[in-house]
Amino acid sequence: KRRAGSLVADERPGDWAQALMDLGATVCRSGQPLCQRCPLTEWCAGFRSGRPERYPLKTKKAERPRRRGVAWVLRDDQGRVALVRRPGKGLLGGMLGLPTSDWSSVPAEGAPPRPADWRDAGAVEHVFTHFALTLEIRAAEASSAEGDGDLVWTPVEEALASLPTVFRKALERGLA
Ligand code: SF4
Repeated sequence: KRRAGSLVADERPGDWAQALMDLGATVCRSGQPLCQRCPLTEWCAGFRSGRPERYPLKTKKAERPRRRGVAWVLRDDQGRVALVRRPGKGLLGGMLGLPTSDWSSVPAEGAPPRPADWRDAGAVEHVFTHFALTLEIRAAEASSAEGDGDLVWTPVEEALASLPTVFRKALERGLA
């Protein structure tokens, strides 16, 4: 930022920025610079290198950390699935989702939303901006929804249409 600040023109800095963007869009095109038409060759280190098309150098993307967790798909006998309201703050804050364990680098089984005959139902992968998630899916059927104060029993079709993608994928896996 300091470096950019020292380079920008004090007079009409907006025009300076616009000119730079136009130059990048029309002349100094990534991978195909038109140096013979460029007014900057005199000061350009890329041009001096003899291989200006190499710039900007690609930086290797940092690998996303992976987190793991468990999601529970609990269906009742009325075609509904048990959802929970997520905490207001944090990822997918305030939204409805499947009950899950914590998502952490160390696999954590956590406690299911209620005792049931839980079965392994595979796993789904989902990539968030800052991490990749592996969710192990457990599935079970419930005969009644009574006594489940925190659970929001939602028709399966409605849940499939409205859940955030990661939970929709997990629900589809659990239903399958
Ligand atoms: S001289 Fe430099 S700034 Fe101009 S087009 Fe070539 S590489 Fe881009």
